Amino acid sequence: MNESDSQQDSTDTQPRSHRSKISKPLISRITESVYCVQRRDYMSCSYIVVRENGIVLVDSGIDSNAQDMRDGLAEINRSPEEVKAILLTHWHNDHASGAASIRETSGAEIYYHEDGHAKYTREARARGIRGWLAGRLPDAGFWAPVRGLLELAPPRAVSATTFVSEGDLILDEFRVLETPGHEDGHVSYIFEAENVLFAGDALAVVHDHIGFMSRFLTHDFKAARESMLRCLTLEVAAICPGHRYPLLDPKAEILEQMRDRLENLRWWPIIGC
Ligand SMILES: [Zn+2]
Repeated sequence: MNESDSQQDSTDTQPRSHRSKISKPLISRITESVYCVQRRDYMSCSYIVVRENGIVLVDSGIDSNAQDMRDGLAEINRSPEEVKAILLTHWHNDHASGAASIRETSGAEIYYHEDGHAKYTREARARGIRGWLAGRLPDAGFWAPVRGLLELAPPRAVSATTFVSEGDLILDEFRVLETPGHEDGHVSYIFEAENVLFAGDALAVVHDHIGFMSRFLTHDFKAARESMLRCLTLEVAAICPGHRYPLLDPKAEILEQMRDRLENLRWWPIIGC
């Protein structure tokens, strides 16, 4: 789909949300450079990484106009114009919706894995009744991820400036870890300067423990299990997941406990726990 097609398409599916009904995100500082932007809907988390030469976002919020990321940047006295790159873990609406809008504002480079390309760009979006139904749902707030899962695409097309793959080092600081299973083309990123893992939806953090993403949201159980194991063998200062709260200084026994559980897993849990 070309750019004019995508603009036409997003016009056809106007949001029915009202900003006044959407609560502002919760912003918390995780490390020296990393801030978590958490939306109450789905407790979804995207991240702002503040570097000397610009700002990097890891995922881009749940709003198609990136309002949650804009609010987060304002809260730390930074502006969307300073965003130089957006690293996307996967195309789901609660992670990738704001990317097109921030790119329009700042010209930020967009990074994601090629396996998700047709969904990010909306080329693979569901059509017919399914697409029509999706277009009736708001593209912000509670219904946004439902709309995305129904339509199999974010509300606004976004296209990578660079595809990432296993082992790539982006901007000299972010190492790519391929972690499919929750979704094809899902990747995680390790911010090496502060040893922070951005795990997206490769795993869940439930209170102070590692948990599973829901069975209903897991595309490939075998791959998801391998991806979780990969994440849990890393020694990192913080695990920043795509939902709930980051886990700071994860204890070795907690990681080991989950690795054991995964090694003996017979049935993927219906809800994350
Ligand atoms: Zn997801």
